[in-house]
Amino acid sequence: MKAALLYDGEVRVEDVPTPIADGWALVRAHAAGVCGTELHFLEGMIPPPTTPFQLGHEIAGVVLEAPPGSAVAIGDRVAVYNFVGCGSCPACRRGWDSICTEPVGQLGFSLPGGFADIVRAPASNLVRLPDSVSFETAAVLACSGMSVVHASRLAGIGVGDTVVVDGVGGVGAMAIQIAVAAGARAIAVADSGPRAELALELGAHDAIVLEGGQGYEGLPDQIRELTGGIGVDHYLELVGTSGTMLAGIRSLARRGKLVLIGYTGEHLDVHPIELILSEVQIVSSVAAARRDLETAIQLAADGRLRVPVDTRYPLAEIGTALERLRARQVRGRNVVVW
Ligand SMILES: [Zn+2]
Ligand SMILES: [Zn+2]
Repeated sequence: MKAALLYDGEVRVEDVPTPIADGWALVRAHAAGVCGTELHFLEGMIPPPTTPFQLGHEIAGVVLEAPPGSAVAIGDRVAVYNFVGCGSCPACRRGWDSICTEPVGQLGFSLPGGFADIVRAPASNLVRLPDSVSFETAAVLACSGMSVVHASRLAGIGVGDTVVVDGVGGVGAMAIQIAVAAGARAIAVADSGPRAELALELGAHDAIVLEGGQGYEGLPDQIRELTGGIGVDHYLELVGTSGTMLAGIRSLARRGKLVLIGYTGEHLDVHPIELILSEVQIVSSVAAARRDLETAIQLAADGRLRVPVDTRYPLAEIGTALERLRARQVRGRNVVVW
């Protein structure tokens, strides 16, 4: 079969041996999302477990093979939940697979990923898809969609809350829609006019443009202006620079929550008194639990969560998809399709 393999700083599509199920399931891939994380691998920010390494962690397809007693059958359309927890640590026992203390691994991070014709995963990681949810939608929900459902649950976003979504990329596009689906009022912060337009199309109540990510010092005042001087209940931080995190804290209402999702090499530097006097909280969120993926799929089936796809590429052209992502030319998600 064909697979896209990461070598030192480049991705090549090559022939590789077809995996053997060996107690897990095999899925014929139909869609695999191309994520910003792939760029972190290419740039060396995340070291691959081996060289070469098969990338791809946003996967949807059709079950080719499943062990007896599985909840899925051959021919089922599925999304692949990419975390493989140990199943027995205190986190796994509570369904918190993404913070498992002894994980088996994660597809596309430490286990062979989804940029391949056939993917091997535990049958219990496969989530059946309603007919109305396409493979490409499901693939993207298996990363950014489920992550935002997870973060929204941890933050406790509810009816009537105000939520800033700072960063309108693939994750931000999901965050705006999920905040709206939860009954909240979303304010997007975008780094360009076209991204702000996308935010409004997806249901944001307001969109603030900070051209090229400049001008965060003035953002808290702008947010207060939009919220009757109160500030926001939740600030979803998808950018992760010192300036954006501080602007987030300063934009919060009393007891508001800064929700850390994105990160860069920069630190959060804040005096505790800034947090204490307004009883604000800092919440952090990594990936998602399997039930968050199930919820994201349900929201899509109900028509409340839409995945903006920029371009569909055959596996052979994955290099072009990655180049366009690096050049920040992608509006929504690029998806490899079969
Ligand atoms: Zn991803
Ligand atoms: Zn575990």
